[in-house]
Amino acid sequence: MTDVKTHEGSCHCGAVAFEVDMSLDGLIECNCSHCYRKGFVLGFVAPDAFRLKAEGPQTEYLFNKAHIRHRFCETCGVQTFARGTGPDGTEMVAVNVRALTDIEPFSWTAQRVDGASY
Ligand SMILES: [Zn+2]
Repeated sequence: MTDVKTHEGSCHCGAVAFEVDMSLDGLIECNCSHCYRKGFVLGFVAPDAFRLKAEGPQTEYLFNKAHIRHRFCETCGVQTFARGTGPDGTEMVAVNVRALTDIEPFSWTAQRVDGASY
C-alpha cells in the first residue's frame, strides 16, 4: 500500500506540467488499441486532486464514444493525462504515471486489464 502523496509530472518538453494527489496503488496497464500503443500506465483521481501548473499548446484526441478527452503536447507528443467520465458519469482524470517526474521509474506495479474486450 502506498499513501496518497502530491506528485509532480510533466510532458517531455515541459510545456505541460501538473501536480496530482494520488496513491500509486491500483494502477493499470490496458490492452485497448489506444492505451497499448501509447504504453500508458494509468492512475485515476478526482478532478480536484489534479492541478495543471503549465498548460502549453495541446491537441485533443477523441475516439470511440468520446467519453475521454485525450490531450497531448503539440511539441513533444507526450500525453500526461486525460479527462473523462466513468461509466456512472463521475468526472475523473486519468494520469499517465510514466509522466510523473518525482518517482523512480518502475517503482510502481500496475495490474493488466483487458480494456480491449469492453
Ligand atoms: Zn511537451
